[in-house]
Amino acid sequence: MTRAISLHDVTKSYTRGIRVVDRLSLDITPGEFLVLLGPSGCGKSTVLRMIAGLEEIDEGQLLLDGEYANHLPPSGRDIAMVFQNFALYPNMTSRDNISFPLRIEAPGEDPSPRVDTTARMLGIEDLLDRFPAQLSGGERQRVAMGRAIARHPSAFLMDEPLSNLDAKLRGHLRAEIGRLTRELGVTTVYVTHDQAEAMSLGDRVAVMRGGVLQQVDTPRTVYALPRNVFVAAFIGTPRINLLRGMVRAPLDGAMTISLGKQFLRLPEPLSLDHQLLRVQQGREIIVGLRSEAVRIARPSSARPGEVAITGLVEHLEFQGHEVIVHFNTGSSPAVVPELEAARPGARAVRRGRREGTVIDRLRERAGALRGGPVAVLDEPVGGDRGPTSTEVRLPGDLVVRTTPDMELRQGMQVPLLVDLAHLYVFDQHGERICPAPTHLPDLGE
Ligand code: ADP
Ligand code: MG
Repeated sequence: MTRAISLHDVTKSYTRGIRVVDRLSLDITPGEFLVLLGPSGCGKSTVLRMIAGLEEIDEGQLLLDGEYANHLPPSGRDIAMVFQNFALYPNMTSRDNISFPLRIEAPGEDPSPRVDTTARMLGIEDLLDRFPAQLSGGERQRVAMGRAIARHPSAFLMDEPLSNLDAKLRGHLRAEIGRLTRELGVTTVYVTHDQAEAMSLGDRVAVMRGGVLQQVDTPRTVYALPRNVFVAAFIGTPRINLLRGMVRAPLDGAMTISLGKQFLRLPEPLSLDHQLLRVQQGREIIVGLRSEAVRIARPSSARPGEVAITGLVEHLEFQGHEVIVHFNTGSSPAVVPELEAARPGARAVRRGRREGTVIDRLRERAGALRGGPVAVLDEPVGGDRGPTSTEVRLPGDLVVRTTPDMELRQGMQVPLLVDLAHLYVFDQHGERICPAPTHLPDLGE
């Protein structure tokens, strides 16, 4: 048995006037694995707790299998929850921990057969007589999963169940959770701030920011067609390159997108998407280039749809199978404040004592902009005058991946080819305008 979970315009405030979940609507189909993804504090756990009945819903509706369920007590929902911190009873063995909810639900029945089947499924038969203190983190989380599974609930809610584990174990258990939930075919809502986890587990991924749902789609679609700059920047590693640009569309000349000191000349005849950019003429936009949209090669080897720019190698990260190259192309990066604070990927170049103040400022701005526009295209608020680039010095403005056989050194000027078929353009509010919102790139779907 598995169930449909629907949220209609669900809103929640802890402090009056501050909505931590703001008119969230989601329809989760029976058997679906839905991931709620977003930075810390965006309201993911609150959504999960409202579905579980652990938190009251202020406004809007929760429907379980189409039935109004706002006021159902948690015990009446037939939903099992797995938490980040394992939450096992320390004075009970694994067996007792797993059978505890079964004894409450069916007091007269012997829980052993169910406990044993579940233990076999999870490979924890040998751990049943141990106490939590005698288990490793991964083993404890398996027991906690066992407690949820043994109940045969009609839905699972999992709140960052892997984030207290080390990386190797996390990968292992992630695969296991994916396999188990599919085998059981039970609707699962899984919360994480880790985009890689979300992409690898979810049938669909719901991206949240500041209590507001940004987009819900298959992993493939959120990656290929992010609705806004926040989703684009949150999903994918290395993070998408976001550059401040300007569309120039002279009546008698070729249309270009200028990026600081360089420009991308759009090939003629203009594609439908590029024609749409004409209305942005003279306005600032944000250009998004994933690292796979740029390659290191001479202009003479350009394929159709590729245009040439150059970049100065600022920093190299050897990864073994590939090298991540940070270029300076003379453009200015567009800042997505929440992500600068949330993801450590973009480090400020060390500039003595200044570094701390820069990060502090980004954090401050992230706070100030919660719920506001996604991208920042204005000058920094207050403080000294001058553009952000003199203060916030990120290592280069364009990150590109390449094979390790390429001989690159810091300080080299290198030719680059940009594939315009993989060009994203966002307006000043961070909404994607290119490819056009309805336009599906070659996904073969
Ligand atoms: P996430 O799980 O995405 O990290 P949460 O849902 O836990 O986010 O929290 C969303 C926001 O609500 C945060 O700003 C958090 O501080 C606040 N919050 C969560 N629980 C409570 C509570 N019980 N009382 C007051 N504020 C809360
Ligand atoms: Mg949380």
